[in-house]
Amino acid sequence: MRVTEHIKAAKGKTLFSFELLPPNKGQTIDSIYAAIDPLMEFNPPFIEVTYHREDFEYVERPDGLLEKRITRKRPGTLGITAAIQHKYKVDAIPHILCGGFTRQETEDLLIDLNFIGIDNLVALRGDAMGSETYFKPEKEGHAYASELVAQIAGLNGGHYLDSSLENTAAANFCIGVAGYPEKHMEAPSLDHDLKMLKAKVDAGAHYIVTQMFFDNQKFFEFADKCRAIGIEVPIIPGLKPISTKRQLNLLPHRFHVDLPADLVTAIEACKDNAAVYQVGIEWCIQQSKELMQAGVPILHYYTMSRPANIKAVAEAVF
Ligand code: FAD
Repeated sequence: MRVTEHIKAAKGKTLFSFELLPPNKGQTIDSIYAAIDPLMEFNPPFIEVTYHREDFEYVERPDGLLEKRITRKRPGTLGITAAIQHKYKVDAIPHILCGGFTRQETEDLLIDLNFIGIDNLVALRGDAMGSETYFKPEKEGHAYASELVAQIAGLNGGHYLDSSLENTAAANFCIGVAGYPEKHMEAPSLDHDLKMLKAKVDAGAHYIVTQMFFDNQKFFEFADKCRAIGIEVPIIPGLKPISTKRQLNLLPHRFHVDLPADLVTAIEACKDNAAVYQVGIEWCIQQSKELMQAGVPILHYYTMSRPANIKAVAEAVF
């Protein structure tokens, strides 16, 4: 079922959903099930699975020279989505990226996803590889998520890259895209970023999932600005409870988000990470309750595949 249909069927009730990371290479699917099982009692209509592209690493050879090797630490997104749908009978939503894919490879992936019964996708550009400063698309790939959305929307209209194909079947993917209440790190301004977000919706996106944020006011202002420029699709807030003191610096650095002064003060006053964990849960509960009261369609949680704090939040909110 499509995310937009889940929202419609809920008739104004806020739904619970979450996101998982594939395990590090070498782990089994059981680690994914262990991350899902504790959260199933909150009836998620869908579970998202992130995508992790390849990167380069330098390995020292016996002769002392460095060899550049390509690695992928967290493969398995496609297999995990199929396994989730099969085991839990809920929609599984893979994230798919521009980075690392030609248009042809994207089309082949979309065909696979269609065949295994995936109804929804989150279409993203992806970040630059760790070894590069700026994002570089593949030679025959997409530079921006809006182009990837347009390709998926094309397939929804039965348009394949090989225009000589006849009587082609149309796909019917519901397409999610990323939104940034505090602006994407590369965008020159929030207004410019919002225009680019509108381009993704105009290209065919059906809903928006936001980057994590810790100040609901930022989300409310972002949603108002989206509506003011004609973005009418559902906007789903993404939330993550802070869980260690180190994240005070790590989250702003990695995700370009601000932490409110009250939250920073509360975390700095904690004597250990067990106390930070509790503060993070309490803060996320307050955020969730206020967002729910404001009528958001879904509260979407970033679990990082560690469900304990999300379970504590969901118990207090749902
Ligand atoms: P885009 O929408 O393409 O935007 C990228 C930048 O380009 C923005 O600054 C935008 O303003 C600008 N821009 C867009 N179009 C144009 C244009 N035509 N001209 C000029 N500028 C333009 N990463 C992963 O690797 N795997 C994941 O699974 C994953 N999941 C995510 C889920 C969510 C909800 C979010 C918020 C992010 C996720 N990311 C993931 C991170 C994401 O890939 C990065 O934030 C990436 O840098 C941008 O992706 P995007 O799809 O927002 O890009």
